[in-house]
Order: sequence, then structure tokens, then C-alpha cells
Amino acid sequence: VASVRARVTVAYGIATLATIAVFAVILIAERRASTLTRLVEEGRNTASLAGSIIERSSLRGISVDTLTGPRPIFPLSVTSLLDALPGYLVVGDSSQVLFRGRALRRFDELANAPGSFAEARTNAISDRDKIEGAGFDIRSASEIRRVRLSTHEVIVLSALHEPPLAGGVRRVVVGVSTQRVSDVTSELAALTFLVAPVLALLASGIAWTLAGRAFQPVNQMVNDVEAITDGRSLHRRVVLDAEETDEFGRLGRTVNDMIGRLETSFGALRRFTADASHELRTPLTVIRADVERAMNTSVNSHEHAVALEEALQQVSRMTGLVESLLTLARADEGRFEVVREAVPLEPLIREVAETAVILGEEKEISVTIPIMQPATVLGDVERLRQLFLNLATNAVKYTERGGRVEISLEARHEEAIVTVKDDGIGIAAADLPFIFERFWRVDRARTRSEGSGSGLGLAISQWIAHAHEGRIDVVSRLGRGSTFTIVLPAAPRGNSTPNSALTNS
Ligand code: ADP
Repeated sequence: VASVRARVTVAYGIATLATIAVFAVILIAERRASTLTRLVEEGRNTASLAGSIIERSSLRGISVDTLTGPRPIFPLSVTSLLDALPGYLVVGDSSQVLFRGRALRRFDELANAPGSFAEARTNAISDRDKIEGAGFDIRSASEIRRVRLSTHEVIVLSALHEPPLAGGVRRVVVGVSTQRVSDVTSELAALTFLVAPVLALLASGIAWTLAGRAFQPVNQMVNDVEAITDGRSLHRRVVLDAEETDEFGRLGRTVNDMIGRLETSFGALRRFTADASHELRTPLTVIRADVERAMNTSVNSHEHAVALEEALQQVSRMTGLVESLLTLARADEGRFEVVREAVPLEPLIREVAETAVILGEEKEISVTIPIMQPATVLGDVERLRQLFLNLATNAVKYTERGGRVEISLEARHEEAIVTVKDDGIGIAAADLPFIFERFWRVDRARTRSEGSGSGLGLAISQWIAHAHEGRIDVVSRLGRGSTFTIVLPAAPRGNSTPNSALTNS
């Protein structure tokens, strides 16, 4: 569990980092674009401001003196205003520079400074020329050039004046450093690198706590299940909140259901073992007494014979019991092979009815066959005989003197239906659900002392019916009699492939 918790925590941390990274990238891109737009705007403003300064001064009568040379020389009142403007400013006519702003003049100062290095000088001149070259190359007001100087990048734009302003000014070039764009980038990046780990740690901490709390029920469940160490502790259950409907609640309920089923089958197994031992001990006790009696030298030969005969009876009873147990054990294991061959039921039912007549003779029970329709099933003739015989024997056994037993065979809808009906003692509704259980008898003490059935007959009968893909049902009322019905799938017409074995499952 600890590892799942750790994995969730790490995943949370990584997810947070990734989210922040994506967010930062988008934010930086957006901020760069908007800063660039703002810079261009500022450049344009500067250009138009410079234009109006020049225009206004001429209107106020400050003449732009062009007489002193080929180039106009702006009066101080104009240049001082122009020098107050930000950025690299160049005022020119169509081809030559009329005025350089303060920032550009600094390049000239640098180039002419006595102490500067040769490299710095050439850089200063080339930087200045690059800005002016780009500015004079521009053909329309909307055009923008990006110029890489020796130390930084500049965007250059030009305001074109046609007709020219005072002094023949046709072009105002403005260069704006893009330093602010990279500043924005590095600022945001720095902020991201500072904040991201903190947020990721915070998210991981929350994930660690939440995962710990979420997996708490699982830990509890593991402890609960671990406490179930053997068959005796199967009564324990995983502790659950009744209203828990989440996955853990479902898991807990599923585990509890499973433990419940295990408990039931463990209990059944224990009961079965106890019953089987008990059933085997009774005849053994009787046999032991018989043998002791037979060994007694004082008894005569007649008493010898009686004792031995009783012992023999008990031995055959035990043999039957052990055989039944073996049958059921093999059936449980799925090791029992049920032969599949076409079995006509008519002769089988007649044979079983004849046996029932013999069994019921002593109690004057009438055995009849009211309905007999030809039907054939696929199956194991020996097992089927055992099944019908079990039911017929029970019918005779649990019917009082002079009673009636009816055995019928009907063919209906691809099914063969065998009914064994008696008007005997019947079974109470409360007992009905249990009669197919192993060793189950309505009146345990009585039947056992009578030395009759062992309570395995119906369990075996049910197994045989199921092994033939059929079913066995019972309707019974106490004191009125019982009707057992076996429904088996009829053999497909024309099917008579004998001995195709099928493993019972
Ligand atoms: P047993 O060997 O005791 O007959 P079975 O498994 O065949 O065992 O039957 C289980 C119990 O079901 C019987 O002990 C009996 O109480 C009841 N039972 C079975 N068949 C009938 C029947 N035809 N009429 C009344 N009770 C029956």
C-alpha cells in the first residue's frame, strides 16, 4: 500500500509540474507577443510626436534654418524637445539624415571617444548604420524591421511624410530596443522556477495525505482478512460502514460474501465428515458386539449363526455406505465418467416397478404404472437404474401398510418425465429444502435405529439427474404423500452412438 501511496504522490507532483510548465510556456508566449505590440505602438507614438514637434515649431515661427548649408539645422528649442523622446530617433529627408536623436548620437560619441577600444568603435558605427539603413529601407508606414545590434535587438519603424514637413522632413525613423521582451521572458521564467517546486511539493504533500486516508480502509481490510487464519475463524468479517458505497465498500462486501460462502462450505464439509464417521461407527459397534458374542464359547451354534448373520448384515450396510460416499466424492471431484448411450426408459421403468412390487409385498403396497410412453435418453443405464430405484425404494419405505405407489413415464417436448408418486407419510414443508442434502433425514434417530437409509440416496439421485443434464423436483405434503419428478432431455432422434463417454462436472 505504501508503494501505491508513493506512486500517487509522485504522479501528483509530476502532474503539477507539467501543468505549471505548460501554463508558463503559454503565459510567456502571450506576454512576449503583447510586449512586442506595445513596443511597436510606443515607437509609432514617438515618431508621430517627433513629427508634430517639428511641424508645431515651424508654425510658431521658429524657422528651420536651411540657409546655412545643404542640411537644415533645427533650432535648440526643437532639438531639446526631440532629445526628450525615448528610443533611437532619426529625422531625414528622402535619402539623408537631417537629425539624430540623443541615443544615436551616443554611438558617435562612443566611436570618437579617445579611450575606447577599436572593436567598440567599429561596433558603435555599425550599430548606428544598421538602424539608419533599416529605417531608410522601409517603404511603408506599416513595415517593421528587426535589427540585431552588437549588444541587443531593435525594432525599427518609419513614419513617412508626403508632402514633407518643415525643413523637407520626409521620414522619421524610430528604433526601439526589444530588451523588455527578453526581460519579460526571464522574469516569468525565474518566477516559474521559483514557484513550481513549491507548488509541486505542496501538491505532493496533499496527495500523500489524501492517498494515506484513501487507502486506510484497504489497510484495515488487509488486517481483517489476515486475522482469518483457519476454518475456525471464518465467522469473522471485514468491518464496513453500512453506507460505504464506494469501491472499497464494494470490495469489502465482496470479500465478506466470499468469506460467507467459504464458511458455508467449510461447515458443510465438517458436518459431512462428522456424519460419515458417525454412520460408519454405528455398524462397527454392532459388528464388534456380534463378533464378541460369536467368540463366546458358551453359546451354541444357533446363536453363533445369528450373531454372524447380523455381522454380515452390518458389513453389507457399511459396504453400501462406503460405495455411496465414494460415488459422491468422485462426483464432487468431477472424476466420474457418465457413459452416454441411448437408453430406452420403458424397460428400465418396468424393471424398477417390479422391484418395488417385491419390496412392497410385505406391507401390501400396490405398485402401478398408470402412464407409459416410449422415451429414450442419452445416458448411463446403471446410474439411471440407481436413480429410479432410489426413488421407488423411498416411496415404498415411507408409505404405510396398504398404500399406493405410482410410477409413470411420459414423453413431452423433447423431454422424458419420470414420476414416482406415493400416498405415504410425506415431508413437512420445512424439511423439503433439505432432503437432497447429504446425510439428511427427516427423523434422524428413528431411521438410523431402524437401520434403513443413510440419507445419501437423494443426494446421489440429484447428482445423477444433473449429470444427465436433467433435474429432480419434489412436491410433498405431510401425511398426504410425495411426488418426485425427474425430467431428462430426450435423446435426439436417430441418435444411438453408444459409449461416447462424457466426464461429469
Ligand atoms: P434415506 O436413505 O434416509 O432414505 P434419502 O436421501 O433417500 O435418504 O432421503 C432423505 C430423507 O428424505 C429420508 O430420510 C426421508 O425422511 C425423506 N424422504 C425421501 N423420500 C421420501 C418419500 N417418498 N416420502 C417421505 N419422505 C421421504
